[in-house]
Amino acid sequence: MDIDAQTRLVGLLGYPIEHSRSPLIHNTAFRHQGLNWLYVATPVVPGEAAAAVQGLKALHFAGANVTIPHKEAVRPLMDELSPQAQAVGAVNTIVCRRTDGEVSLFGDNTDVAGFLEALRPYAEGLQGAALLLFGAGGAARAVAYALLSTFRPSRLTIVARRPAKAEPLVRDLVAHDEDGALEVCAFEEAAAAVRASTLLVNATPVGMHPHTGQTPWPHPQDFSSGQIAYDLIYNPEKTRFLEEAAARGVVAIGGLEMLIQQAAASYSQWTGRSMPTEVVRRALAQK
Ligand code: NAP
Repeated sequence: MDIDAQTRLVGLLGYPIEHSRSPLIHNTAFRHQGLNWLYVATPVVPGEAAAAVQGLKALHFAGANVTIPHKEAVRPLMDELSPQAQAVGAVNTIVCRRTDGEVSLFGDNTDVAGFLEALRPYAEGLQGAALLLFGAGGAARAVAYALLSTFRPSRLTIVARRPAKAEPLVRDLVAHDEDGALEVCAFEEAAAAVRASTLLVNATPVGMHPHTGQTPWPHPQDFSSGQIAYDLIYNPEKTRFLEEAAARGVVAIGGLEMLIQQAAASYSQWTGRSMPTEVVRRALAQK
């Protein structure tokens, strides 16, 4: 599709963004569906989020993705928030809604839906189960909300290297923790919870390229079949955490599926179409 005066624009606001796979994902989908749309990654330095969001309106963008470090900063700039963005306290998708020349901004957090999509086949076994999450950062917030609101776990253990830093997460999500499932513990105290949990999620960057020799849990003897290990890291696709879990008969899920599914959820809000995820998966595999 040629870029011309009709081309609709979607942006990525973040910094740094030069390694982002989102332009490849969305532009592959636009091309495949014959849409005259273009996704551009725009480096927005810290402190410039408000100006960038104003720019989206002024330049008639259809919307944007938001990534580190602006996911929290853009939240108060939205005219309306989805329940997910409200609960997580962060926006990763902006939809610019235009009516009668007026633009209103809708903020969503599609990390929630993207994370849950890969767990669909296992949903029954996760209802009311004990679940565990390594990490207490931005992604962990989306994951914790997704798990609490979807599976009503008997326990959701947040394993944090600085447990005091996880307290705001617990405080913010307490309204969605009807069963008092949330607990925070340090890595040194987590062995029993790791062994007892049906789902183990890595929401830390530990094991990410180029530090592929690392793992958030270097005690694979604590893994057993019947568990699910889910690593949010997508580079590499199979982390040490997932390889060691799979060697013990654990179901292993990598972060690439979440990356694709959160993108698909944004794409359908901008275009009104379903993203051709198979085509996108193939394009990512070729890069
Ligand atoms: P973040 O906000 O920086 O949070 C990282 C968390 O990991 C923090 O709790 C941090 O603890 C902890 N941590 C960092 N290094 C650690 C270490 N060596 N040992 C133990 N804990 C450590 O990052 P994020 O945005 O949540 O992202 C986390 C990971 O998820 C990244 O790998 C990211 O690429 C991935 N992710 C993937 C997707 C996807 O679509 N697949 C989406 C979002 C994120 P402190 O607070 O103590 O520093």
